[in-house]
Amino acid sequence: MNQFNQKTLVIVKPDGMRRHLIGEIIKRLEQVGLDLVDAKYTQANEQLARDHYPVTDEWLEAVGGKSLGDYQKYGLDPMATLGTADPKEIGRMIHQFNIKYLMSGPVLAMVWEGNHAIEIVRKLVGSTVASVALPGTIRGDFAIDSAIAANAEKRSIQNLVHASGSIEEAAREIELWFGD
Ligand code: ADP
Repeated sequence: MNQFNQKTLVIVKPDGMRRHLIGEIIKRLEQVGLDLVDAKYTQANEQLARDHYPVTDEWLEAVGGKSLGDYQKYGLDPMATLGTADPKEIGRMIHQFNIKYLMSGPVLAMVWEGNHAIEIVRKLVGSTVASVALPGTIRGDFAIDSAIAANAEKRSIQNLVHASGSIEEAAREIELWFGD
């Protein structure tokens, strides 16, 4: 094992479960050579869902800002659907949507291990928004949702999977979902 060996948390979110995509997602992670080292079929309660999405000012502003960018792109007024144009306020709404989404049905939480596992899995998963996610990625091939559509319906973007974004995030999330 070398110093680039990493573990990362992958969650098949409730929409991925409903779409029967467990097999497809596992196949894609396995075929690059990653190892599945732990897995749990479970349903998140509110505490777990909240802890999974910790709120920091940076996150609120980044997510809210991304959303505002979409409104600009489509020439729409965020005030009309969200009642605010403040990125932090929008970030807070999205945080609530995310908690509800993660709790909305059973999920499959998994720990995957291998060289550069965190980056490799993020690449295989693809961008948050389906229209930007490249073909060949999980979201690019199987998702169709956007921020603007999700916000209009006051819900989170349904994008099938969660994957840890950094070494720190992976360590925190694996501890949260699997404990010791
Ligand atoms: P990713 O899951 O690609 O790392 P983020 O960490 O930015 O994305 O956001 C976490 C989750 O929040 C996303 O997977 C998506 O389900 C949801 N989300 C992100 N941005 C928005 C948005 N503007 N509107 C609704 N939901 C969003």
